[in-house]
Amino acid sequence: MNGASHLVGGVTAAMLLGVHSPAQLLVVAVASLLPDIDRSNSLLGRWIPLIPTLLEQGIGKRTITHSLSFGLGIWLLLGLLHASWQWSFLIGYVSHVFLDMFTGRIAFLWPLPCRFGVPLFGIPPIVIESLSLAGWGAWIVLGGYQYFQILF
Ligand SMILES: [Zn+2]
Repeated sequence: MNGASHLVGGVTAAMLLGVHSPAQLLVVAVASLLPDIDRSNSLLGRWIPLIPTLLEQGIGKRTITHSLSFGLGIWLLLGLLHASWQWSFLIGYVSHVFLDMFTGRIAFLWPLPCRFGVPLFGIPPIVIESLSLAGWGAWIVLGGYQYFQILF
């Protein structure tokens, strides 16, 4: 999925789970983009020097940054630095990994070589992304916007 889809998915999940603080939503937004720092052209990766290129050319895409060990490591680190951000990070990170499983396969148990994905009968990822964004737009128009009114 692209960065916009991950942002929409993560922030929507957070709002539905009762996260309304702008600071918490910022953590969700960053966490929902973080796994794709393994691509130099991703929404977050393009602002980070060297690391995305090294990950992309070395370990590969959808490997370490999409793994349980990476998510758990960052979650534990946040527990030491700013424990109140752990829940927000978890929502954003899990939403990213969950959504990516519908458009490909991820190495969730990296460094183990097995990859996981949800096959959708050969439907191209762009169709899945387009349908999910259209569904999100319809949800917003039909009243989902009420979840976001608390921000404004
Ligand atoms: Zn990803």
